[in-house]
Amino acid sequence: MTRGPQLLNYDVVVAGGGPAGSTVAALLAEYGHSVLLVERESVPRLHVGESLIPAANDVLSRLGMIDEMLASPFPKKYSVQFVTESGRESEPFYFDGFQSTGPGHTWQVIRSEFDRMLVDNARRRGATIMPETKLRAPDGPSGSFEQLDLCSSDGSAYRVATRVFVDATGQSALIGSTLGFKQVDPVLRNATVWSHFRGAHRDAGRDAGATIILNSREKKSWFWYIPLPDDVVSVGCTGALGYMFPGDGESAEQVFQQELDRCPPLQRRLAVAERIEPYRVTKDFSYKCRPGAGAGWVMVGDAYGFIDPVYSSGAFLALKSGEMAADTINAALISKDLSPERLGSWQATYDVGVENFRRLVYAFYDMDFNFGRFLARFPEHRGRVTDVLVGNVFKPDVELMFDDVSAELVEPGQ
Ligand SMILES: Cc1cc2nc3c(=O)[nH]c(=O)nc-3n(C[C@H](O)[C@H](O)[C@H](O)COP(=O)(O)OP(=O)(O)OC[C@H]3O[C@@H](n4cnc5c(N)ncnc54)[C@H](O)[C@@H]3O)c2cc1C
Repeated sequence: MTRGPQLLNYDVVVAGGGPAGSTVAALLAEYGHSVLLVERESVPRLHVGESLIPAANDVLSRLGMIDEMLASPFPKKYSVQFVTESGRESEPFYFDGFQSTGPGHTWQVIRSEFDRMLVDNARRRGATIMPETKLRAPDGPSGSFEQLDLCSSDGSAYRVATRVFVDATGQSALIGSTLGFKQVDPVLRNATVWSHFRGAHRDAGRDAGATIILNSREKKSWFWYIPLPDDVVSVGCTGALGYMFPGDGESAEQVFQQELDRCPPLQRRLAVAERIEPYRVTKDFSYKCRPGAGAGWVMVGDAYGFIDPVYSSGAFLALKSGEMAADTINAALISKDLSPERLGSWQATYDVGVENFRRLVYAFYDMDFNFGRFLARFPEHRGRVTDVLVGNVFKPDVELMFDDVSAELVEPGQ
């Protein structure tokens, strides 16, 4: 006789143990709902996305995690600095003065460790955690997620009844992929090659933990330079997919080396460094999924959309969307209104902030746009640019710079 799946019942099931899923799970458990968080990998697990921005601190504060972050070995990030394609270094954009609360800096994190801390926090607040358990996509385009099938790595099967399903499956975008809701960003068809290095150059004092964004010659690609604990630096190179990988034959190492050869300021920083991880590649990661909510389900974090790595917005947006969704789901459960309109009611506000990031990302990739020239011409926008870099993207004031950003794009060289 074959045994059927074990039956479970939760108010909320969250799929995905990244920052978005852990935040939803922690806050909803704290509200008193029964919450199951399933993560297909073991916890901790490897992940790209190591640089936080200060606005993440607000959500971390609500999650009660600031003291844990302060006690962690994660380098403190006080600023971000840009190096142009000609090798000119901008003044660092320091964050202090742009945060009303918190320590005036944020952190560079080892994602396996950071995400484990978030999952542990959700567990402490009452969520049930099932690692190494995969949520199976429902068969057919039913759009119903009231009954979910889970499969653990030890072969156990579960069927869970739930009132609300939260898709926090990151770039897998379980609902978006299953129901055909994924819309790739036509402007940002990019690829990234990244690895970790030990013994690379570190700036002194409070610049030691800064993110540095370095353009390669002719702005064909850019590198992130993210200092991590134990003298390790994460370095990743991003450029147009068709430029980085024009055929089938390029190895990740070749592509990285080819771009490093075009970036002397990075060569100097890596001169005596040793690579300690394999090169990893990720491609075509910019998209959005619409609609973002349905009857009894809602998407958060990367499962709802991802812009681009350049301003390190992803983990913050995952945390923020998790927070906004949790408050909305709590109210929806209490009022017994689990309609798409109710569950997705936070997304219009959230989308405005995402759009502010996106418009400045488009400017970054535009060959005619130059931040130094823009700020020299419009010094009144310096605070607004910093607001975006910090993550204060929900301030109405931020939008005021985009007419002038657009003017720079259509009037190059003026
Ligand atoms: C090249 C690159 C560089 C980046 N750099 C940065 C950066 O410096 N700073 C930054 O803030 N962001 C960065 N990001 C973005 C950041 O990594 C993501 O935005 C962030 O991790 C999103 O969090 P999340 O919780 O939505 O998803 P994730 O962190 O991806 O978590 C999703 C989880 O869902 C699990 N999962 C998937 N499918 C299932 C399933 N069927 N069942 C159960 N579990 C499942 C996965 O295993 C995963 O653990 C970068 C992204 C890219 C592509």
